[in-house]
This record gives sequence, structure tokens and C-alpha cells, in this order.
Amino acid sequence: MERLTINVAGLLQEASGTARRLEIDDFYPHWDEILLVTPISGNLELYRAGKGIVVRSNLSTSIELACCRCLEPYDQRIQVDFDEMYFPVVDLATGSALRLEYDDIEPEFLIENVDRLDLTEAVRQHIEISQPLTPRCQPECLGICSECGADRNSLLCNCEEQAVDIRMAPIQEMLQQLGQNTSA
Ligand SMILES: [Zn+2]
Ligand SMILES: [Zn+2]
Repeated sequence: MERLTINVAGLLQEASGTARRLEIDDFYPHWDEILLVTPISGNLELYRAGKGIVVRSNLSTSIELACCRCLEPYDQRIQVDFDEMYFPVVDLATGSALRLEYDDIEPEFLIENVDRLDLTEAVRQHIEISQPLTPRCQPECLGICSECGADRNSLLCNCEEQAVDIRMAPIQEMLQQLGQNTSA
């Protein structure tokens, strides 16, 4: 499914404290800016609380990122854990409008349609903020050689050794001269 929607009509009519758990295994949205390599899966816990519903997300997925050191694409595991509270705009028992009571609540946390509490955007935002600032294909990624451009994870070039040799050359020469002087 491309959207993560939940029917909360039943839960909204339950007493505060009522919990419900849902397994999610085939949420596979298509987003331009996030490339999912596996469906988003895990579980959602919903709690009836006060006038609304608390949604606890325990979801995870893998997205494709480019390593900041070697620039190669790799699969990054992302944990989508959050707690958010959602409020219905209509009291299901009386049918009266509740919207005015929630003047200070962001529209995305209002339940406009009890058949379709849509968590797609909430999940997208949490994946976005959960991305590492410096993505790495592996913790010890060796990156790209600044001399020859080789990916040093797969090809160990000799540039670094040669660079060390060049830097050491004058010192070695000096040491040689010192050796000659003292032996003379
Ligand atoms: Zn890398
Ligand atoms: Zn190199």
C-alpha cells in the first residue's frame, strides 16, 4: 500500500486507556526525495487517551543513501519511532464539532476522517529527520584516495606509501649525510 491509513472510528468510541496494536508489513510509498529499498514494516500501537488517540510508531525500513566518504550508494537502516497525539474534529457520540477546541493544534494532528487517520506524512517526516548527517556505508569506510581516486575499500592503492616516501626523502638524505660525516 502506498499510504498508511488506519480506521479509528471504533477506537474513538472506546474508553480512555484502550489500546490496539497493528502489524504493518507492506507500506511501500513512492517518494521523490527518499528512496526506500524495503517496505516500511513493524507495528503501531494506538491508545485512546483523553479526547484523542496516541499513536506510537515502532517501524523501520532501509533507504538508499550515498556514503559521504566513498560516495558509493548503500542501504541505510532507519528506525521510525515516534509518539504523536491525534484529535478528532467531530465528537462521534454526539456528532458535535470539536474543531474550535483545538485552535492551537497543527492541522496535521487533527482527525478529519475517522475512517482514515493518515500517517503517511508523519512517517515521511520522521524518516527525513532520522537520516544520518554524515552517512557512511560502514563505520570504518576508508573513502576515496585523494591522489588516484580509487575506492580504498575495494582497492588498496600505493599512493599513501609513495607520498610518505617523498616526504621522508630529504630527511633520509640528511640522515645518510650525518652517517657519512660521523664515520669519516
Ligand atoms: Zn563509504
Ligand atoms: Zn591512490
